[in-house]
Amino acid sequence: MVIKAQRGNTLRTKGWRQEALLRLLENNLENAEDQDNLVVYGSIGKAARDWGSYRAIVESLKVLEEDETLVIQSGKPIGILKTHKDAPLVIMATSNLVGHWANSEEFYKLYDQNLTMWGGLTAGDWQYIGSQGVIQGTYEIFQAIARKHFEGDLAGKFILTAGLGGMSGSQPLAGVMAGAAILVVDVDETKADKRVETGFLQKKTADLDEALHWIREAQLAKTAVSVGLIANAATVYPLLLQRGVIPDIVSDQTAAHDLLYGYVPENVTLAELAVLRKENPERAIALAGASVAKEVRAILDFQARGSVVFDNGNNIRTQAKAYGVENAFDIPIFTEAFLRPLFERAIGPFRWVALSGEKRDIELIDQYLLEFFADNKIVTNWIKLAGEYVPVQGLPARISWLGHGERTKLALAVNQFVADGILSGPVAFTRDHLDAGAMTHPNIMTENLKDGSDAISDWPLINAMVASSSKADLVAIHAGGGGYAGYMQSAGLTIVADGSDAAADRLKLSLDNDTSLGVLRYADAGYADSLDEVEKKGIRRIETD
Ligand code: NAD
Repeated sequence: MVIKAQRGNTLRTKGWRQEALLRLLENNLENAEDQDNLVVYGSIGKAARDWGSYRAIVESLKVLEEDETLVIQSGKPIGILKTHKDAPLVIMATSNLVGHWANSEEFYKLYDQNLTMWGGLTAGDWQYIGSQGVIQGTYEIFQAIARKHFEGDLAGKFILTAGLGGMSGSQPLAGVMAGAAILVVDVDETKADKRVETGFLQKKTADLDEALHWIREAQLAKTAVSVGLIANAATVYPLLLQRGVIPDIVSDQTAAHDLLYGYVPENVTLAELAVLRKENPERAIALAGASVAKEVRAILDFQARGSVVFDNGNNIRTQAKAYGVENAFDIPIFTEAFLRPLFERAIGPFRWVALSGEKRDIELIDQYLLEFFADNKIVTNWIKLAGEYVPVQGLPARISWLGHGERTKLALAVNQFVADGILSGPVAFTRDHLDAGAMTHPNIMTENLKDGSDAISDWPLINAMVASSSKADLVAIHAGGGGYAGYMQSAGLTIVADGSDAAADRLKLSLDNDTSLGVLRYADAGYADSLDEVEKKGIRRIETD
């Protein structure tokens, strides 16, 4: 069976809100890296615990009344509760383990017993929009590096990175959008093929010399190019150093957060690894750890020889440190190095999905943004580029980094367009969990906070409760499974703009309160820009002596 999200205006449920959530679940699978195993992205990030759970979720959404709430525990539907029509239709908690037990060993044990699953950030809660989900984040990182180190221009610059998977597959396109020559190493040729097929990667080869030739050609001509190299990053990075090839920018976005199911060690074929993972998981982990350490040492050497390097949110430094690379944290994390000023004002990765399946709906919303956010250069620059470069994957969708008030302005306008019949169907609004008030991850999102509150995970829990109290349609609390165990806590929300007054109310409350909390979180940590945002936007902050 091949699952695709339903398009058009026929409902299979008791209302558009339920239909929207059902289509988003289907859309996660339509865009999945491995649909047969329900794996959406991020090594083993799943949309549902197992196929029985998937079918039960679908049937539950079909019978769910407006005043009921479907409860899901790590991808398995547990029951339907009578609530009220302003309550979320779906609430879920995914991959959570209690403090002392939140480690990889315990997680894998429970995972093998099918008692939990890894939900990633947007896999478990049906908010995945394909590789474009994190593309603007990566693009903005490249832009920030360009401004800081290369006089604002990446033409003729060489970016080296790794990972052509679900999320990491956005890197080649982000590099091209930033005008650079980008080489992306992935050990799995099928991943490179998928990125070429979906328009995220231009060329691929297994020959390093050919790859470097294409990169050099583009550098000389100052044209953008993306090249996929089929190889292991732990082998290729040191080899480039040996040859004296020093890229301008170096990173990695392989699934290094998970040493068992994510990162592929050197000198093992994928088929051999599949057997090893089953028969001797400890050895598979140890081999992956050693390869991660080798790759990270190479990244540090690139840094010493002048490359701008950064960790792109896959926990690779933490893994490398555990495998002996004491100075792994000399590599800066992208949030602190480049994007924190945006998060301080709760500007983050906001997303919307055209549930009708009509690309035209996204284009109309793009036009609205270009006209009504004309003063916001981040938005207008991005929307123009995205319209030109970002291909449609699954239900047409868009991501744009917007802040407090801006998200609500857009969502309410869109809700009105739905009501007026300007769009061909309702639109779902959501965001990445990597957002100002929504994530605690002391090695990614909250590293080196001003007040040292990096590991306090009250914030995402409050975030989810605020979303539930603010009438969001779906609310999720996730935590770190797999290699992530114990590293992170996050929250997600989805709200459906179906054109009704009730939807307008839900959108306004949910989105305003979500970003208010984001600003308050950073204000609490002492960031001046957040305090300024509190003042400017009239957010009600309580000061204590
Ligand atoms: P994925 O599992 O879909 O893809 C990972 C890719 O890495 C695969 O294609 C795999 O073949 C490749 N790979 C693994 N080991 C390799 C090696 N040694 N050499 C070369 N290639 C190798 O995962 P994904 O969805 O692309 O996510 C990748 C990572 O990025 C995860 O750790 C995820 O948590 C993280 N992530 C970060 C952000 C962010 O905001 N910065 C967002 C999303 C995901």
